Amino acid sequence: MKGLVFRGDRKAEVRDFPEPEAGPGEVVVRMKASGLCGTDLHLYRQTAAERPDVDRIVGHEPSGIVESVGHGVSTVRVGERVSVYHYRGCGHCTQCLGGNIMWCPDRRGYGGPVDGSHADFILTDARNCLPLPDELSFADGAIMACGAGTVFSAMRKLQVSGEDTVVVFGQGPVGLCGLLIARAMGARVIAVEPVSERRALSRELGAEEAINPDEADVAAAVRDLTGGEGAPLAFETSGNPAARRGAAECLRLGGKAAFVGLGSVGRGQDSLQIPAGQLISRQLTLMGSFVMPIHIYRGLTDLISRRQVPLTKMITHRFPIEDAPEALELFDTGRTGKVIFEWQ
Ligand SMILES: [Zn+2]
Ligand SMILES: [Zn+2]
Repeated sequence: MKGLVFRGDRKAEVRDFPEPEAGPGEVVVRMKASGLCGTDLHLYRQTAAERPDVDRIVGHEPSGIVESVGHGVSTVRVGERVSVYHYRGCGHCTQCLGGNIMWCPDRRGYGGPVDGSHADFILTDARNCLPLPDELSFADGAIMACGAGTVFSAMRKLQVSGEDTVVVFGQGPVGLCGLLIARAMGARVIAVEPVSERRALSRELGAEEAINPDEADVAAAVRDLTGGEGAPLAFETSGNPAARRGAAECLRLGGKAAFVGLGSVGRGQDSLQIPAGQLISRQLTLMGSFVMPIHIYRGLTDLISRRQVPLTKMITHRFPIEDAPEALELFDTGRTGKVIFEWQ
């Protein structure tokens, strides 16, 4: 089968690999769609010396059809349409049992310790195979596996409602998911994005305003759009230090902000600074959020199906896996919407 590896210094290579075989409790899924995520870009931009394993197949937004199941698998059927959960875990620890597989001490993320989804097939555990409702496409399934799942988890923590205005910082694939999901939950969305192509896409997908932070004072612009108060909620996806500060500064008294963007600078090692007096006197709630617990997947598919959330409208480019080097080069410009690999 074909699989994509990153050799360091922006070298993407499609290579031949043996097809995986399902062991006990495991499942092989034939890929139909696999999304490119910001984390892929981070790995793509690593130097050859930083790449821990240049032979590892990358990709962690898998969606496809169950090809084969291993011994003892009774909950997943061959031919079933699935989205595949982000991390493989031990299945027995407190975190796995609580649905937080991303916190399992034995977690294995696709493209890290185990092969990922930018390949014709992926090997996973039966418990990671999440049924994809008939009305949702494989591309929906891929986007829900990381981007939309991460967003949905954070939006639930923010308790977004129809009374809210949410300021979404960054309109890359995760920010665009933020826009669509906050709107589906009833909120009004103000987007913040420096790249003009992405601001245009954001307006097309329903942002009431798209502020260019290179030209405007974001906090002042948000106050203008909220009767002078500031926004009740902010959602930060870019990892840019100025955007992180902006997310705290644009809030009204008692506002809440969720941060999901690790960014390319420092990968979250840099600090988010806000005067403690402001945090206290303005009674702000600042929270981090990371991927999604597996048990909220059903709530996510219900929201996407019932509210007919047009997740796939943010896809600007679709490629076969053979053209992966071209896809990465394009996604690396930071000017696209969602980019996905698709299989016929
Ligand atoms: Zn991701
Ligand atoms: Zn575990």
